[in-house]
Amino acid sequence: MRTTCVIAGSGPAGAMLALLLGRAGVDVTLLEKHGDFLRDFRGDTIHPSTLQVIDELGLSAEFHRMPHHQMSYMSVSDGRAMRPVADLRRLPGKYRYIAFVPQWDFLDLIVGHARRNPNLRVLMNAEVTGVITEKGAVRGVHYRDAAGDHEIRAALTVAADGRGSVVRRAAGLRPKDFGAPMDVVWFRLPRTADDVTEPFLRFDAGAGMVAINREAYWQLAYLIPKGGFAALRARGIAEFREDIGEMIPFLADRARNLASFDDTSVLSVVVDRLPRWYLPGLLCIGDAAHAMSPIAGVGINLAVQDAVAAANLLAGPMVRAERSRRPVLDPMPASLLARVQRRRLPPAAITQALQLRVQNQTIGPMLAGRRPRMPRVVSPVRRHLAGRLIGLGIRPEHVRPEFRSERSSQ
Ligand SMILES: Cc1cc2nc3c(=O)[nH]c(=O)nc-3n(C[C@H](O)[C@H](O)[C@H](O)COP(=O)(O)OP(=O)(O)OC[C@H]3O[C@@H](n4cnc5c(N)ncnc54)[C@H](O)[C@@H]3O)c2cc1C
Repeated sequence: MRTTCVIAGSGPAGAMLALLLGRAGVDVTLLEKHGDFLRDFRGDTIHPSTLQVIDELGLSAEFHRMPHHQMSYMSVSDGRAMRPVADLRRLPGKYRYIAFVPQWDFLDLIVGHARRNPNLRVLMNAEVTGVITEKGAVRGVHYRDAAGDHEIRAALTVAADGRGSVVRRAAGLRPKDFGAPMDVVWFRLPRTADDVTEPFLRFDAGAGMVAINREAYWQLAYLIPKGGFAALRARGIAEFREDIGEMIPFLADRARNLASFDDTSVLSVVVDRLPRWYLPGLLCIGDAAHAMSPIAGVGINLAVQDAVAAANLLAGPMVRAERSRRPVLDPMPASLLARVQRRRLPPAAITQALQLRVQNQTIGPMLAGRRPRMPRVVSPVRRHLAGRLIGLGIRPEHVRPEFRSERSSQ
């Protein structure tokens, strides 16, 4: 099988790139190893920068019809009072909130629209197992499905298969690991109408929690020292319930809903980045290029922004090459792919540097038992700047006009 661009992985990065290239008229094949997008406790924060992309794609009305919750500010709790630390209400642009949407709904929306382009194929239950390499260039992928093993040859292979990327490993690219002092235990507890509404952070000596209002329930993250889940488990679920009640007293009774550790999901936090995101014929984007810390929930948004930048820089040359049947872009030259890294490296590296600072200066010492310094009253200007950094990030990307409508309707 031959295609112009094969994308491994239909997470936020791969799905968005497929939609954009599909709309640009590129022949695209998207491979996803799972049969659906169901992922519990995965990233589901859609920030204003991504809401703007969705708007530019003409999907905003459909997106906002999906069940979602909007958050315009974030607070820190010391167990008694809430102190606002980030405020998105004065952001420039149309979207001044973070939308919490289950990741599977978001991916269904994007892939559903991608499928409307006749030049795009989505293969589910198709697991990429390796890359085809010839003369130092990547020329496509090997994949496996229920029918057996296959290969797809392509001018461009995109590794969007997440932080454990098989494609990246098969191509011999190794990320630099920046380390993380924590892992995260995710779980949910019921919410009542009398509870506070805003999401909040709760830090104390030895523990930290994040509480996200999901209307019917609280989605909760409990921070533990790196590799500490076995020790937490060994202490037993009753002790864990008590820890939760001590951190967030209004949830003490409801912690009984946690029957066992099977009701939790552990995220092993990784912060890493590839020194080089490309080879001739291969580009890595999203978590495959830079796994983000969960701090500020920016992973999906950076993945989507990478996809928009990659489409903006590469779709034109690919379409022109397809039309002229020039073999010069097959495999796609490293010089062209380097442009994507040049554009997206600064936002990824600066965001990771800020996350590492919070991890190493606040979270690490806190988990080691030091009492964290609570921010005093944060001035409105600082709250706005924090909201802007979280909501819009660094160098938000915009969808080019030629990708804004579906090919079938053009
Ligand atoms: C528990 C958890 C909570 C998180 N919370 C947040 C949050 O609140 N907000 C936020 O913005 N970010 C969050 N993140 C991070 C966010 O989910 C990622 O940064 C983001 O999803 C990266 O997108 P991606 O498309 O690069 O990779 P992924 O989302 O990892 O997608 C990779 C895709 O590739 C598929 N795949 C993998 N291997 C293969 C293969 N060999 N062949 C074919 N397909 C393959 C996978 O099934 C998956 O669909 C969280 C991550 C985790 C794990």
